[in-house]
Amino acid sequence: MGATNWERAPQIRVHPPGPEARRVIEADERVTSPSYTRVYPLAVRRGRGAVIEDMDGNLFLDFTAGIAVCTTGHCHPRIVEAIHRQSERLIHMSGTDFYYEPQQQLAERLSHLLPGSEQHRVFFTNSGAEAVEAAFKLARHHSKRKHIVAFYGAFHGRTMGALSLTGSKVTQRKDFGPLVPEVSHVEFPYCYRCDERPAGGGCCYKTLEQIEENLFHRTVAPTEIAAFFVEPIQGEGGYIVPPLDFHQRLYALAKQHGILYIADEVQTGMGRTGKMLAMEHFGVVPDIVCLAKGIASGMPLGAIVARESIMDWPPGSHASTFGGNPVSCAAAIETIHLLEEELIENAAKRGVELIDGLKRLQQKHSIIGDVRGMGLMVGMEIVKDRATRAADPPRRDDIVQAAFRKGLLLLGCGESTVRFCPPLVVSSEQIATAIGILDEILG
Ligand code: PLP
Repeated sequence: MGATNWERAPQIRVHPPGPEARRVIEADERVTSPSYTRVYPLAVRRGRGAVIEDMDGNLFLDFTAGIAVCTTGHCHPRIVEAIHRQSERLIHMSGTDFYYEPQQQLAERLSHLLPGSEQHRVFFTNSGAEAVEAAFKLARHHSKRKHIVAFYGAFHGRTMGALSLTGSKVTQRKDFGPLVPEVSHVEFPYCYRCDERPAGGGCCYKTLEQIEENLFHRTVAPTEIAAFFVEPIQGEGGYIVPPLDFHQRLYALAKQHGILYIADEVQTGMGRTGKMLAMEHFGVVPDIVCLAKGIASGMPLGAIVARESIMDWPPGSHASTFGGNPVSCAAAIETIHLLEEELIENAAKRGVELIDGLKRLQQKHSIIGDVRGMGLMVGMEIVKDRATRAADPPRRDDIVQAAFRKGLLLLGCGESTVRFCPPLVVSSEQIATAIGILDEILG
């Protein structure tokens, strides 16, 4: 295996999938679960920064980051070194039952993510869904209330509790019931699809009306609601950015009724939006934050962070054998250093370039209905025409496929949106290249 010139990406040498990729894919498909959603035949050999090399030596620009996970890029040398160093000392001991420094040090750091005079505490998990489960359980346990309000379009994961909160696609829930009871879903403000957008800005706040007028008066008393469970920006649901004051208004409603505010920052957190937490853009300090994806640059880790007075469950009430694994914690500590040194700033700057580039394409190509996002969490909504704003899922899928064949890795989200979530190390040149590829495809 020769040295790879990562600078040359994208470079398609063999029409993908080439023979080596086909070998892996055919063997994989005989033995892995058919529930996996592989949208194009990419079999990965290795990765570096924002570039992926497939099994046949093709180089792709990775604007997926392994679904918004590899914040520091693929195999960042400092992350590799942190993993190496820690794995020589201790790989597992279970932070639920014993003490070790990487977990303590990471908890210390995460406990300062949220402002406020009160001390915060951290519970570690292995994944986003488990972080959501932990927050769900903590909200019920602490409040002694049962009901949770979540959102249509939300994605919170696929374990039974998380799935009960998920309201994104019916295939994700179909035939898995009965799910956890006492969950209601309400509309998330999707400004682009809202016909009541008042001229001159502002918002109709259908969501708040729905909660106050329908939910509170017709189905569930606010005193029975433990939490509002909300993504700052909807991810899987379509990279939907709510109006800037939405979270403040929803938070005020929550506080009026003693309801906890839980931010699922599994996808938006850890610098992705150009701030450490996306909720910082909205000026809200949540009661509980769920983290995973970007936290450890690809090592499995999740966490919830809550004020000490909320994380008041007794020993034995919740735990995890693998959560807070020392190698994952070491990778997370180094990830946070890199985020603070340069990558959050890079995400903010490159995000502006990406949105500007896509908006320029929008002026040329009428099938781009909307371009939206924050930092490097950017969505481009594909429509049949701008007048009707009718979604065009097949066209969106064609764009994702064509980009793959030209060496640009993208994924869809929502009904008809292309999502852009490159590693936070992505450069201006790589963004310009991606925009150029899209221009060719759309042309
Ligand atoms: N919450 C959000 C906002 C997510 O985007 C995801 C995954 O896409 C999850 C939870 C579930 O995370 P995981 O797949 O690690 O269980």
